Amino acid sequence: MNIILFGPPGAGKGTQAKFLIKVLNNFQVSTGDMLRDEIKKDTEIGKKIISFMNEGKFVDDEIVNSLMKKVVFDTSKKGKLIFDGYPRTIEQAKNLDLLLTESKQQIDFVFFLNVNKETIVKRIEKRRIEEKRSDDDLDTILKRYDTYLKTTSPVLNYYSSKQNFYELNGNQEIDQINEQIKDFLKL
Ligand code: AMP
Repeated sequence: MNIILFGPPGAGKGTQAKFLIKVLNNFQVSTGDMLRDEIKKDTEIGKKIISFMNEGKFVDDEIVNSLMKKVVFDTSKKGKLIFDGYPRTIEQAKNLDLLLTESKQQIDFVFFLNVNKETIVKRIEKRRIEEKRSDDDLDTILKRYDTYLKTTSPVLNYYSSKQNFYELNGNQEIDQINEQIKDFLKL
């Protein structure tokens, strides 16, 4: 089962992805984690993207799409993908459709975790303390939220009219969201 988790930064996509990989035995596909890993390993890509990430700006579609191609065509992960933080632009959404068609796969569920700004700021502040992510200071958080509104929220229209689209109240407690997702998946 391939699933997209969609929502603003701090919506709980990563948390729900971790829950889903456990219950479904799937793989988390977090572009944020993949990009942070490139920085940590100081690769060519890492050197190119570090300033964008730290300023809360998007990394080029071209770079993200090329990382995604490897994952979608990885046969050991076929039909077991939990997308967390991708797609974030219309171009990425179109690219994902293309990659899935080429690899004879589909998206089974799109879960939109809808949260308000207050919850996001609270959650990211907590994460900043717990995970010490360098791109989690308040300024960067607010920039990331603005970018989401401008660039990512239009991607909602791309998915919201589809039959497999489900909106959840992301302001709820994690457990409550887990349960709702389980109901939709009939687990
Ligand atoms: P995340 O861990 O998903 O919150 O992502 C952290 C940062 O990584 C974002 O603020 C962007 O700078 C970058 N990033 C993650 N996913 C994408 C994506 N799909 N497209 C462009 N940039 C991304």
